[in-house]
Amino acid sequence: MSGVRVYNERLLELGLTLPGFVDRSEVIASLPSLGLLTLAAHTPAHWKVIYKELDNYSDGDINEIAEECPDIVAFSSLTARINEAYSLTSVFKKYGITTVIGGLHVSALPDEAMKIADCVIQGEGEIIWETLLSDYENNMLKRYYSSLSNPEYTFRFKDVRVPKYEILDISKYNRLTIQTTRGCPLHCSFCAASRTISTYKKKSMVQIESELNKIFEVWDRPFIELADDNTFVDKAWSKDLLKLFGKYKMKWFTETDISVAYDDELLELLAKSNCAQVLIGFETSKASGLKGLDRSDWKYKQFDNYLKAIDKIQSYGISVNGCFILGFDTDTKDTFIDTEEFIKVSGLSEVQITLLTPFPGTDLYKQLKAENRLLDEHYWEKCTLFDVNFIPKNFSVEELEDSFQKLMSTIYSADAVKERKRKFREIQRNRKKYSLYESI
Ligand code: SF4
Repeated sequence: MSGVRVYNERLLELGLTLPGFVDRSEVIASLPSLGLLTLAAHTPAHWKVIYKELDNYSDGDINEIAEECPDIVAFSSLTARINEAYSLTSVFKKYGITTVIGGLHVSALPDEAMKIADCVIQGEGEIIWETLLSDYENNMLKRYYSSLSNPEYTFRFKDVRVPKYEILDISKYNRLTIQTTRGCPLHCSFCAASRTISTYKKKSMVQIESELNKIFEVWDRPFIELADDNTFVDKAWSKDLLKLFGKYKMKWFTETDISVAYDDELLELLAKSNCAQVLIGFETSKASGLKGLDRSDWKYKQFDNYLKAIDKIQSYGISVNGCFILGFDTDTKDTFIDTEEFIKVSGLSEVQITLLTPFPGTDLYKQLKAENRLLDEHYWEKCTLFDVNFIPKNFSVEELEDSFQKLMSTIYSADAVKERKRKFREIQRNRKKYSLYESI
């Protein structure tokens, strides 16, 4: 269950008319669940596996699954759809089907999930899955399996299998995902993905090559989206990755921090490997907003290089999708004006703005909970990145919503989107030789 419904009605209406916003939302909603495809690969051959996406589902879809009489239904869901996943869990239990749930949200709150599902997987499912199925067959299924609290289930990437892409109806997708790294060493206070499931780890080139080869067996000209949190942390490993990607006819996309801009060789390889776009979390247009954001203040120390880094990466013909978060305690009304100005001046080819969201499991969640600033106890369906879930410091909730909506209208207006695309096309046309660019 991957798609997300925005709750704020005004924003919902607005979003439907904003081209830049809709494009990215559609891409995210149409990605298959790499976690479930990976579990399918770890399922012994005497089991039959069916993969279903319940983004927009009807009673007919549920009946169709129930009529297959599965022994187990396994769910993967993000926080924003977790309540729906819990409801469906209850529905399948009524059919006498065993339900298993895993993923980011339940890894942060396993006790909550255990009240509903028959079995909860906390952390990395690959190492647990075969044991869980064998326990089921022997009538010994446990309520809870954890790779985070049980050293017996320590997972290494060398043991991962190639996801079962072949069970997808490939005609339904415009992108496929592979994961080359998991986790991120930076530890930003609002970031759940970087460590809830695993500490930072990288796959070997041999494994990544096998995954790419499998994708090319089912799709000859794929667009690949890396399901990584921060791909280019290890520069030597990254260069091997880019050399490998350069051998394949594919366009691809990933998420990174701005350190790529400091390595000319890496940028050159990135351009030659047909990278279409990198998404970078700049987080804010104000240096003060970055202070204390990650544990070593790494992002704060990079702030003065932001504009030069964007310029440099894009000069290699690689589009930068810049992400900004609004609602930090350091934000004031001026932050919205500064963000709009920063986006204009930066020449970013694409932009994402989101509201600060306290996902369970993050330092931000713990901080706001301790300060009694969460608006509800179980606000999960509003963890959309576009709904306010906490009491902001320098705004009322309504003021933050209003300012955010105004900024959305400005930066995602048809003219603004067109202008960003025009500027980027101009950069691509005028691309100079890589060697002309100075190091930052
Ligand atoms: S750099 Fe990105 S992936 Fe890493 S912790 Fe920060 S927000 Fe998460």
